[in-house]
Amino acid sequence: MMLTGECFCGAITYQIDGKVRDARSCHCSRCRKVFSAQASAYALVDKNEFTWLTGQEKLTSYMGEHGFGFQFCTHCGSTLCGVYRGDIHGITLGCLNEDPEIEIGYHLYVGSRATWEALPASGKLYEEGQTENEVAK
Ligand SMILES: [Zn+2]
Ligand SMILES: [Zn+2]
Repeated sequence: MMLTGECFCGAITYQIDGKVRDARSCHCSRCRKVFSAQASAYALVDKNEFTWLTGQEKLTSYMGEHGFGFQFCTHCGSTLCGVYRGDIHGITLGCLNEDPEIEIGYHLYVGSRATWEALPASGKLYEEGQTENEVAK
């Protein structure tokens, strides 16, 4: 499988020669802000299958705690990927151009979702992290 993705302005593009996996959505207050949305939409990628095609110099990194951070377009602000200790860790599903042929399999921190967000209709729902009890649907 070959997938491509790009930011909103199109300056930064990437290619994945393989599949993305473990698609998830986290509804915690921090992920809402990173993704400027009701939740994250994120999948893991093999760093050896990921290549920046254009605009890599326009990437800005925001590094959080524990070596984990995000990279976004300096020009338009799209968050493109997550990085862990300097390596690509995963991609934001919203920036993909093609169908990754997977769906979001689970939702984390549903208990802290925004008051304005309706409960997600599909996927496993977890009140907090994945080790916590699944929310009865
Ligand atoms: Zn951009
Ligand atoms: Zn989160």
